[in-house]
Parts: sequence; C-alpha cells; structure tokens
Amino acid sequence: MSQLRWDPLLQEWVTYAPQRQERTFLPPAEWCPLCPTKPGGFPTEVPRASYEIVVFENRFPSYTLDAPVPDEVGSELTPTAPGRGICEVVLYSANHNSTLAQMEERRIRQLVEVLADRYRELGAPEVVKYVFIFENKGEAIGVTLHHPHGQIYAYPFIPSRPARELRAAQAYRETHPGQCLHCSLLSQEQRDGRRMVVEGEHFAAFVPFFAHFPYEMHIYAKRCAPSIMHLERAERQDLAHVLKQVLVSYDALWNMSLPYMMVMHQAPTDEEDYEGVAHFHVEFYPPNRTREKLKYLAGSETGAGAFIVDVMPEEAVAQLRAAHERAKASSTEGASNAFQG
Ligand SMILES: [Zn+2]
Ligand SMILES: [Zn+2]
Ligand SMILES: [Zn+2]
Repeated sequence: MSQLRWDPLLQEWVTYAPQRQERTFLPPAEWCPLCPTKPGGFPTEVPRASYEIVVFENRFPSYTLDAPVPDEVGSELTPTAPGRGICEVVLYSANHNSTLAQMEERRIRQLVEVLADRYRELGAPEVVKYVFIFENKGEAIGVTLHHPHGQIYAYPFIPSRPARELRAAQAYRETHPGQCLHCSLLSQEQRDGRRMVVEGEHFAAFVPFFAHFPYEMHIYAKRCAPSIMHLERAERQDLAHVLKQVLVSYDALWNMSLPYMMVMHQAPTDEEDYEGVAHFHVEFYPPNRTREKLKYLAGSETGAGAFIVDVMPEEAVAQLRAAHERAKASSTEGASNAFQG
C-alpha cells in the first residue's frame, strides 16, 4: 500500500506506491485492457460492446481511501502519512487508435462535463485536498497504455507545483488588492498579443512569456473561475472549442501526433476560500524541441530547478500559429483526421 514521506528540504510529500510496479506495460493492441470487451473476447476494464466516455478507479492506484497508517513512522523531521486518496482513469473513446485531437468537439464538450463532475465528487471526501486532472500522451512521456485516456489523482495534500502557484497568487493579491495574478498575466498577454495562439469567447490559448518547454501552451479562462466545476454552460462549450484548436495545432506542427503532458490547475478542495487566487487553467508541456528531438529534464532542470530552453517563445508561437492555420484549412477541406495514431 502507498505511503507518503515528507521531504523537509523541498517541503513536499513523496508518494511510494510499490504495488504499481506490477502494472500492465504496453500490451499489444489486441490485448488492450481499456478497449470495450469484445463478444467472446477476454474481459477488459469495460464489460460492454461499446462506450462513449468511461470513468473507473485505477486498478494500480497510487492512492486509495483505505490506505493504512504506514508501519514506518518516520520522525519529527521526516514524518510519514498514509497514501489516502483516489485515482481514476477517464477513457475518452472506445476507439483504440483515436486521440483527443481527433475527437469531435462534441465529445470534448462531454469530457469537460465529466471532468467537472469528477472534480466535484472526488473533492468531496475530507481527506482529499486537491483534485488533479491530467493526461500523459505518447511513449515519450512514459505512457504504458496507448488507448486515449486521461487520469485524475485526488491527493491528500496540495501538491507542490500548484501550491507554489497559489502562494504566488496570494502574495500578488496582497500587494495588488483585489487583483488576480492569472487575470493580470492573461491581460498582459492579450495586450501584447505576440504570443496568443487561439482566442475563444471565454478561453484564450497562448505560449507564456516564460515557457519552460519549447512548445508549452496555456489555456486560461477569461473569467476568474476557480475551477472547472465553476464554469458556466457557454464557458464549458468554449473550453472544448479552444482545447480542440490547441490539440489540432499541436498535431499540425510537424504533421505527427504530438506527445504531451496536459494538466489542469484549479482550486484545492480543502474548504479554504480561493476566490481571486485560484484561476482555472490548462497547461500543455510537449517534450519535443524538434520533430525528432526531445527535451530532457537534465542536471540544470532537475538538480537546480533552472530551465534552459532552446526555442524562444515568440519563435514557437509563430510556428504554432502557422500550424493552427494549416489545421483550420485542412479541417474545412474535411481532412482534419489525416494523420492517424
Ligand atoms: Zn484500447
Ligand atoms: Zn483570475
Ligand atoms: Zn498553472
């Protein structure tokens, strides 16, 4: 079972989940556990002939609600805690060879609805302090199953990356009364205009001025909504629209299905008030720095926390905008699904 150990140097929890070593590693497509169960075939995670979107608890979870108090008690300096929480898998489609980028906007809209529902439900137990929605896509990211899916981790703590953002937003609000750091960043990008990629009615996608990955993009809600659950109908619709535009632009960049990590940052579920501090947004970190070459998190990034980036954000955005134009042109020709896999 999972246990947490406190790192007093980095001031963050590290989770140990040795049971995950047993998990399925890249099975052949005909043995995919995320495909629908075929009549007379081996039983998959979904005992149905087909499905649209399915959510279920991860069979190899990093956190479970009943994780016991660890035998290893640690010390005052380095305490331990049970790895209590919930891990879910979200299947985007029954089609094994599809990707989120290839899905219709209608399906992505449904997904937004499902994610808002999961955020509400997983955030409800008292032990859950943060609901983290993410997708790892592509073998370059270490994906063990190719079937299009995302994941949700309901953590018993606020993980250090969003915690750091929240602290920054809190401090900004103290020096700029009534203002949200994310709202200020978005309006700065909109005024500048050079790094904007997609402008929807309620969401905007841009390459941040300080991108850590060469082709990083962020999607911000234009209204200061603390979480996906707080988005209104028209905003959910537009989030699906802007997500689709970002995804097809990524695939059009080098005419290949681009690997990425997609993460959602939003309000913790620890009962504190995050109005004007947490601001719902999505961040994409593709690992590629060229079509063939990957950016590795090496000594400077991992050991010093200092990112060195090979591509200027303004250069990346020019390529991404051109890719977006190509994607739009090819979708009007009805060839948006030209590249498979
Ligand atoms: Zn599959
Ligand atoms: Zn805001
Ligand atoms: Zn963020």
